[in-house]
Amino acid sequence: MSPLAMVYDVVVVGGGPAGLTAGIYARTRSLSTLILEAQAMGGQLAWLYPTKSVYDYPSYIAIEGGELGELFTMHARESGAVMESGEVADLKRDGQIFRVVMRDGRSHEARSVILAMGMGLFEPKRLDVPGEDEFEGKGVTYQVRDRREFRGKRVLIVGGGDSALEYALEIVASAKEVTLVHRRGEFRAMEKNVEAVNKAPIRVVFNAELTSIEGGDRVERAVVYDNRTLKKTVLEVDAILINIGFEPKITPLTKWGIALEGERLVKVKADMSTSVPGVYACGDIVSYPGKDKRIVTACGEAVTAVMSVYKYLRSPYWA
Ligand code: NAP
Repeated sequence: MSPLAMVYDVVVVGGGPAGLTAGIYARTRSLSTLILEAQAMGGQLAWLYPTKSVYDYPSYIAIEGGELGELFTMHARESGAVMESGEVADLKRDGQIFRVVMRDGRSHEARSVILAMGMGLFEPKRLDVPGEDEFEGKGVTYQVRDRREFRGKRVLIVGGGDSALEYALEIVASAKEVTLVHRRGEFRAMEKNVEAVNKAPIRVVFNAELTSIEGGDRVERAVVYDNRTLKKTVLEVDAILINIGFEPKITPLTKWGIALEGERLVKVKADMSTSVPGVYACGDIVSYPGKDKRIVTACGEAVTAVMSVYKYLRSPYWA
């Protein structure tokens, strides 16, 4: 069978602790397994808090999120699960086979599906100020994809959380100047980041709000207000980096016919089955009485989901 015609026993959507554990256990049952991850293998551990310590994962007194995510990923890879990057856009059923359609047009086929998307995908929050839409991609950005893009530039960063501070620290060496504006009189970020910002050549402006963005073909000026005095300052800038948190993307689950609890959680039975036969779920995305959002419970749910997939596909005499 060519790789193109491969029909996996199970496709796992999401590569966080729940999805990777599902992959590891599916391989112990020799189920051919594909794990799809839209952001970073390791899930939230890897992309949301890589340097924060996790204290409640048994057998590690403390381990950084990024390292734990990497260990889960290595284990899943070693088990023989296939792993691919990409966002799942659609899930269609054709008889006994599911077609998992990716945002970039690729598709995969599977006999069963485990949903393990955690809290779902997030996109950066927007300020909704004049000029923001017009100059997006022309100096206004929400992420540092390559710090060299900021070389020699006068950069304004908006935000007071760890993302804003870490981005300021990442680009300060190559940028011409970095100004960090925050709407309050103190940051909400980790002390480690606050101390590093205070030591770095970063101009911090507290109680300041970006109210409009101006320019020609690209960003040229940022209008900033002091929210105590209402004094307006116009800053000459080449780039504006907005980091004011994230908000969840609209969930595609209802379109896939999956019964939800509230707006975003998948209702599951004790065997982790969803309302669609052949589709199971585990981890932060599921809802059932007594659900607790922990890495370790997500892993347990993943094992249950895999056993349900196994029974669904193989109907063993003993189950
Ligand atoms: P965040 O912690 O939610 O911070 C968002 C910041 O943007 C806040 O300071 C907020 O101000 C400000 N803000 C929100 N809406 C605004 C608006 N309309 N206008 C002006 N300012 C606005 O978001 P984040 O920095 O992206 O971090 C998200 C989570 O990931 C946090 O828990 C963070 O600790 C974590 N994280 C961890 C690491 C790490 O472990 N190394 C790295 C990055 C992020 P207020 O404070 O006034 O609300």
